Amino acid sequence: MGVLTKAVKSLDDGNFDAIVVVAPSTKGLPDLIKSALAPILALDAGTESKGCTLIPISLPAKRLIYSCTGPVDRDYDDLRRFHEAGAAGVKRAFGAGARSPLLMVQGSLPGGSETDAAMAGLLGGFSAVYVPIEMRESVKEKATKVDKLGWLGSEDQLLFASQIEDGLIVGRDIGGSDPERMAPPRVEEYVREVFKGTNISIEVEKGQAHLEREYPCMAAVNRAASLIDRHDARLIWLTYKPEGQIKKTVYLVGKGISYDTGGADIKAGGVMAGMSRDKCGAAAVAGIMKTLSLVKPKGVMVVGALCMVRNSVGENCYVSDEIITSRAGVRIRIGNTDAEGRMAMVDVLCKCKESAVKQPDPSLFTIATLTGHACIAVGDYSIVMDNGPARQAGVAQSLVVAGDKMADLFEISTIRREDWDFNVDKSGEFVSILQANSAPSTRTPRGHQIPSAFLQQVSGLDKHQLKDETPLKYSHIDIAASAGDLPDPTTGRPVAALVKYIIE
Ligand SMILES: [Zn+2]
Repeated sequence: MGVLTKAVKSLDDGNFDAIVVVAPSTKGLPDLIKSALAPILALDAGTESKGCTLIPISLPAKRLIYSCTGPVDRDYDDLRRFHEAGAAGVKRAFGAGARSPLLMVQGSLPGGSETDAAMAGLLGGFSAVYVPIEMRESVKEKATKVDKLGWLGSEDQLLFASQIEDGLIVGRDIGGSDPERMAPPRVEEYVREVFKGTNISIEVEKGQAHLEREYPCMAAVNRAASLIDRHDARLIWLTYKPEGQIKKTVYLVGKGISYDTGGADIKAGGVMAGMSRDKCGAAAVAGIMKTLSLVKPKGVMVVGALCMVRNSVGENCYVSDEIITSRAGVRIRIGNTDAEGRMAMVDVLCKCKESAVKQPDPSLFTIATLTGHACIAVGDYSIVMDNGPARQAGVAQSLVVAGDKMADLFEISTIRREDWDFNVDKSGEFVSILQANSAPSTRTPRGHQIPSAFLQQVSGLDKHQLKDETPLKYSHIDIAASAGDLPDPTTGRPVAALVKYIIE
């Protein structure tokens, strides 16, 4: 579904109009490239170790772009150097008028794999040619940035990278689009189109009365939006079943708030803009399912749930102090309508839990742009937090390792007793859980860990700890910091890391 690609064996292939070389230095590059670079290096030695340089080369492509990764051998370097240089090089190519760049990547992290570095550079190149869906649909002459992308390397590498990229495109399309283009009913329409004729089965639940019965917390968030047909919620299930025996099962629940006004606790003072990006968790789930539909891994069944709801404000909106009983039978009191992400996901997570106990080797995940606190705590990274069974199985650790190989990086955070205690309602009467405090997460110590305790307490996963009869692995992923804020494009993270984790 992405750009046309072609793997080639030689730099003198006549199908391309720019050669993009991604490398930490010119050392070890083919002689032809070195001699083309020699005159510019003689004038400007700095070219060797930084930036993006365009020069002529006597090959059919005519243009050579040397996109330096910068140093990659320090303790704190990672594969993003290759990803960023890949993106910069390809961007430079089409900026120069090229329509068919040929990409090559050389080098690796110290002791690291060249294949991983190549994958990072290639994914960077792909990211540069992504065109947002609104442009593809409405501005024909800007629907593509290049005609094709060449790859000097193996077919297999190119194939896997394009399968990942196809998932990333789905993630960016849903996550990055405006709140009308990707309102819940239109996300349904989009995924039906994307998965038409594939091995992914689709099931959609909708209707306020149905949601109130089955997913009361999600329904509370949808109450205001349910009055407007084009904003009404959709719970979209995407299921991948492998051929042959199923040995493990993965559940991915994604937060898909198509727009977050904050609800009655409205986001005032100019902080609402950008809230169309609050659907990036669900977008990533759809992206992961897209890539899995192409990679077709054996032995693993994957169930994705897109919790598509708009957190609108209006006469019918839910408000603080309301008492709601969750699907798992937990009575909660609303403390802040802007803490709607946990509400949108928690009953869906509960439903997954009910199904998981009957499946082979299940693990559950929630993926969400959940808290501003995540950004304050870790900057641009995704955060993963394990419950007891997941920690024992090393889920977060494995995800970090998988992400490191795909330039899709994670920090591990820990869910602690304070996080569980925080959510317990202090009245001692009325309800057992207070859904949120009234301060923003950024002003709340442990603001990104607290919701992961809530998700367990209110979904009934608290009955599946290590000590219990049926322990269930559960990890919560907060991507508020890594999904990409306006005006930047969405990143599609953590599609690449999760796919790598699932297939390995
Ligand atoms: Zn919110």
